[in-house]
Amino acid sequence: MHHSPRHCDLLLFAGHLVTQNTTRTVHADAGIAVQDGRVAALGARHELEQDWIAGRRLDFPEGVIFPGFINGHTHAAMSWFRGLADDLPLMDWLQRHIFPAEQRHTPRTVELGALLSCAEMLAAGITCFADMHFWADAVARAAHTAGMRAMVGEVIFGFPTPASPTVKAALERSHALREQLQHDERRRICVAPHSVYTTTAAMLTHAAALSDLWKCPLCIHAAESPAETAQSLSQHGRRPLEHLDALGLLGPRTVLAHGVDLLPREIELLAARGAAVIHNPRSNMKLASGVAPVPELLAAGVPVGLGTDGSGSNNQLNLFAEMSACALLHKGTRKQADTLPAQTVLDMATCNAADALRWPELGRLVVDGPADLAVVDGSLPHLQPMADPISHAVYSMHGGEVTLTMVAGEILYENNRHTRIDLDALRREMQDCRFAADARPGAAA
Ligand SMILES: [Zn+2]
Repeated sequence: MHHSPRHCDLLLFAGHLVTQNTTRTVHADAGIAVQDGRVAALGARHELEQDWIAGRRLDFPEGVIFPGFINGHTHAAMSWFRGLADDLPLMDWLQRHIFPAEQRHTPRTVELGALLSCAEMLAAGITCFADMHFWADAVARAAHTAGMRAMVGEVIFGFPTPASPTVKAALERSHALREQLQHDERRRICVAPHSVYTTTAAMLTHAAALSDLWKCPLCIHAAESPAETAQSLSQHGRRPLEHLDALGLLGPRTVLAHGVDLLPREIELLAARGAAVIHNPRSNMKLASGVAPVPELLAAGVPVGLGTDGSGSNNQLNLFAEMSACALLHKGTRKQADTLPAQTVLDMATCNAADALRWPELGRLVVDGPADLAVVDGSLPHLQPMADPISHAVYSMHGGEVTLTMVAGEILYENNRHTRIDLDALRREMQDCRFAADARPGAAA
């Protein structure tokens, strides 16, 4: 039967299309029809050519289309602190350097730092990030400016922050943020108590109640290092996960950042409670926190996504770097080469990260799903021969190959240029800002 072609906003073709659908289909010489921000159709080039007429056509014969990458855990405003206090262990880095520097933030500096991170993430094909910070409304504003999807949480600390002199004030900021983002297309909230060592039991219980009430994820740093476990034991008489579970914080909405220092029974507990983990291998290595038992978590059925953590502890917001580190770290430490194969690691940066964040329509390219994607230039020397784009994504790409990044059908980054962010103006404002010098008291002006 012959029918006339349908109209769509955009037709996008490439040499390969990695869908990350349930069967992990990779199409060769294929494309996507985008309409109203969603995938209207996808598949073989010749079929799409017959069936669709587009307002705009983009063709990357040597390119690879991936679903947009999802950064499951970061602090976008921390781009100010890149390279500040390197080579220190977690607790020293955090409590003697980062927390004091962060006390000088203003809403504007949080927004600028977050916007710079958005620019960095978009340039590496990241379309969505989960963030925890104070003045989370400023982070949300940066995500809005950049056009990215974001899950933002107003961090809850047991000590004053520049945004909130009291815990009550931080909770009020969470309420306001929820009001603001309730019907937002691209941005969501999470409840974000910082960790067991920076909060009280009452604060954690309250956070869990809010997450239940609002039916939104509860994101918390947990079991990041043996030092945290020791601190939790002395503060609360319990290991971090025991403490969280006793207070009712482990459930199907819980997203733990790190999960490094876990006992086998704690892995079983996470699986039984339906909690998810975000693995941040580069941050964990740089802060010498340890190696998360990711193969055991996956074997137990715990959803595990990848995250970069903040620029102070990585120092790049790039999931290609994170995927490579993840795959190699676990093979090397286990002395077993089939640990975390490439497909598993790519899943952790796309569909599994989406599942972990309870945003399951993201991280895969399927009909009627959001048109969030990244196109990589597959013609570069280090990607020859382009026999297996999934292997190349994990073992060969570094993120600089990304030529186009799209969220909800809108191109946000194309050919080294951001469509919504004036990077020169942003860099100038950050360089001229007092905060840049204040954050680094020892640095030359
Ligand atoms: Zn973190």
